[in-house]
Amino acid sequence: MAHMTNLRARIAADRQLWTDFNAICDCGGRLAGTAGERKAFAVLEAQAEAATKARGRSITVPYGGWSAKNARLRLPGEQWVACHALVRSVATSPGGLTAEVIDLGRGTPEEFAAHADDITGRIVLVRHELMFAAGTIHRRRKYMAALQAGAVGFLIAGSVAGQTVAGSSGRQDGPGIPAAGITPQAAAALRRTARGWPVATLLIETEEGPAQTRTLVFDLPGRSDEWVVLSAHVDGHDGSESAMDNASGLAAVLAVLRALASQVKDFRRGVRATFFSVEEWALIGSAQYVAALGQAAHRTIALNVNLDCVGGSHSLAALTSGFAGLEPFLLRVAEAMGIPLRTVRPLMQNSDHANFALAGIPAFRLVAGFDDPNANLRYLLTPSDTRDKVEETELQQAAMLSAAIVADACNALPQHALQWRKARLA
Ligand SMILES: [Zn+2]
Repeated sequence: MAHMTNLRARIAADRQLWTDFNAICDCGGRLAGTAGERKAFAVLEAQAEAATKARGRSITVPYGGWSAKNARLRLPGEQWVACHALVRSVATSPGGLTAEVIDLGRGTPEEFAAHADDITGRIVLVRHELMFAAGTIHRRRKYMAALQAGAVGFLIAGSVAGQTVAGSSGRQDGPGIPAAGITPQAAAALRRTARGWPVATLLIETEEGPAQTRTLVFDLPGRSDEWVVLSAHVDGHDGSESAMDNASGLAAVLAVLRALASQVKDFRRGVRATFFSVEEWALIGSAQYVAALGQAAHRTIALNVNLDCVGGSHSLAALTSGFAGLEPFLLRVAEAMGIPLRTVRPLMQNSDHANFALAGIPAFRLVAGFDDPNANLRYLLTPSDTRDKVEETELQQAAMLSAAIVADACNALPQHALQWRKARLA
């Protein structure tokens, strides 16, 4: 385990990690299609080239471009407040969408079912949930439930006072309903009263059209044609620095590259770093990447290590996507590094690792603050996802663990790597 001590020391001494994190936050929220996203790619390209001494290659990613020009909500009593149009929300008519609002609380399937007769023609209001918790119901599922029940609009309220919540509606092309994130105060003003359902006006102006971004790939070949893919997503949401989500993961990937670059040529497998975008838009970048690889190439990927939200808490979890055979390996590396790690097995389609997992490639997401309602991760998707929520030692710890996992995965014996592909423990 000599190399583990080495990795620890190297990353602890790597001042560039914190510099990179701040430089990525400086790009702003990095919503796909914005100048901030492009600037972040340029920062990553320069830093990854410096780390690897290799040239990156860019894969073009076409997607349905979208931006919100205006988003406002008029509460009962004629007061207009800010709201945040969900990514790919359809526009309202220029005069806005005026309708009654039905508050379905958290927005569980039970709440939708019990109100099946009340939803048609109304705007559904639900709550945003802590994203990293067992049993979380994803915003996109609630949006789909509202759409299917005949709602004419969709509002989702965050829990941070005074802050709207962002996110994707999950709509691709075609029909949809206007959808926006609101503050908890606005949600409180939309309570049903004895007089009936409150009436609100939602105004959303958008622009849509074909757009393209890229996936940026750096290859550090090992001694075989097999790879360990280390990934993180570049894009985020406007209105914040998208610091935890996911400047933290991007900076950690760069630190892992710096720590390992000079050694990879002697590894059994190579390290491939992939920087994806339009992750926040239903994982589009990684979906296109994995689909284009084809099945033969899928077999050459031993493991996908996906870093998404690795700062904001010192507690780390690996979301192992159903690959039970991967868990003993991850726990062994974490114990050898002296970094506590929890494994969480259900496949969670909440980041790019899901597309690898769905293709049968062992894949996990490293994430901080899982199941901890007090962790700073509660500020995700709000304007408070800023750099002050992250400590340098959190990034160092995540980078150390990731580097050790990547190094050991690159060097694992073929019969051990085969175990990772198993969904059940022997
Ligand atoms: Zn993310």
